[in-house]
Amino acid sequence: MTKKVAVIGAGITGLTIAYYLKKAGIPVKIFEKNNRAGGVIQSSLKDGFLYEHGPNSGTLSNIEIVQLLNELNSDIEIDIAQSASKKRLIWKNNRWEALPSGLWSAIRTPLFTFYDKLRVLGEPFRAPGTNPDETVAAMVKRRLGQSFLDYAIDPFISGIYAGDPDYLVTKYALPKLYTLEQTYGSFIKGAYKKAKQPKTALEKQVTKDIFSIKGGLENLVKALVKHIGDEHICLNRKNININYNKNKYFIDNQEFTHVISAVQAQALPKLLPFVPSNMWLDITNLRYAPVIEIGLGFKHWQGGDLKAFGGLVPMKEHKNILGLLFMSSIFKNRAPENGALFTLFIGGLKRSELIEMPKTKLLELVAKDFKQMMQLTDFNPDMQFVKSYKKAIAQYGADSSKRLKSIDDIEKTFPGLILAGSIRDGVGLADRVKQAKQISNALI
Ligand SMILES: Cc1cc2nc3c(=O)[nH]c(=O)nc-3n(C[C@H](O)[C@H](O)[C@H](O)COP(=O)(O)OP(=O)(O)OC[C@H]3O[C@@H](n4cnc5c(N)ncnc54)[C@H](O)[C@@H]3O)c2cc1C
Repeated sequence: MTKKVAVIGAGITGLTIAYYLKKAGIPVKIFEKNNRAGGVIQSSLKDGFLYEHGPNSGTLSNIEIVQLLNELNSDIEIDIAQSASKKRLIWKNNRWEALPSGLWSAIRTPLFTFYDKLRVLGEPFRAPGTNPDETVAAMVKRRLGQSFLDYAIDPFISGIYAGDPDYLVTKYALPKLYTLEQTYGSFIKGAYKKAKQPKTALEKQVTKDIFSIKGGLENLVKALVKHIGDEHICLNRKNININYNKNKYFIDNQEFTHVISAVQAQALPKLLPFVPSNMWLDITNLRYAPVIEIGLGFKHWQGGDLKAFGGLVPMKEHKNILGLLFMSSIFKNRAPENGALFTLFIGGLKRSELIEMPKTKLLELVAKDFKQMMQLTDFNPDMQFVKSYKKAIAQYGADSSKRLKSIDDIEKTFPGLILAGSIRDGVGLADRVKQAKQISNALI
């Protein structure tokens, strides 16, 4: 039977799947509940500030994202983070400390205790873990020590998941780290051996560089939409009713051989009512961290040094800000000359109550922290926005193996149904593109 595919959700996952299917000549239609494509990706230009409301950047962390950006290079221009912004800052004892970038800075840094620094020397000789459901916190304490957990991994987890290392399970949340330990017995040995492996020309482009798109990440969305074709994207479809009969799916009297969902877990039962409700239980209980993103633009910056990527704030420091990005230092043309643009993140799994707070209160709350962190006397931004995401980032906890099993069971029971999106396979932009490429490849 000729394939005809319905994709539900026009975020980066759904768009990338549709892009590759269309390219391979497979008829595809996207159904999106909002009046625009892009999902959480949204860029704005106002008063000389070019800012993002959702993701601020991606990482060239796998071949699939590199390939996609290469393929679209006549429509978009990649913006790689400026090398002057490489420094990552961590807040400790009321000041920023740079994350060590070499041996000497690693020895001298006040972020970690002397005992833990010594202990790292023994990391290659420590036995690998045996519990596949070990949390990130437990694994880091076992291999590296408490101060590495508090001042490196906890803020790192905030930066990616707005999450809690005591909740996230390494195998699902940081699978590359888990594989390093399982394959090579140690992070250090594994990283060293992987670096020595010969690489193809494409693999060499997986530089782990931070990227955006000139003009904002939304230009990536526009390029994908252009290739898919507006006529294949149905917007404003709030209550899609999908029916199933004998391995065929029906939406608005149109027949599809495949349905691929790229939406959040809790939206699935209503979208796919033919799936018995008990099959959803281990999927719909997936937790999401709430995140509030605050953009601040200053036309004439009068605060502290901006030569860094940004800073992350460990939970131990009891601040309201989880982290902030110095967007105008990372990428050019994000703020007027001599101005500055920042993105702040607050909330997360550990401060989830903040999502209910009114926007004016949130701004008051961050003003104090921001002034101290950025050595600013007055808090008078020329541009500000507050955007709240109640279910921002999926949290891969100890329930993950059950969730993956349920996804597998549903896909086997209903041939042609594929449950995609960040309910599995990672939350970053590059993870989303990788999953989309793998799913479309399997179909093609
Ligand atoms: C605030 C924030 C900051 C982030 N920052 C970064 C970052 O800097 N770097 C990074 O790599 N990643 C970041 N991420 C993660 C990354 O942006 C997301 O993982 C990715 O964009 C999600 O894409 P998606 O297509 O899977 O989902 P989404 O973008 O959520 O798209 C899902 C789409 O499905 C639609 N939909 C939902 N339900 C239905 C329904 N019933 N019917 C039809 N349509 C429906 C939605 O309207 C939406 O358009 C961030 C995420 C957030 C929320």
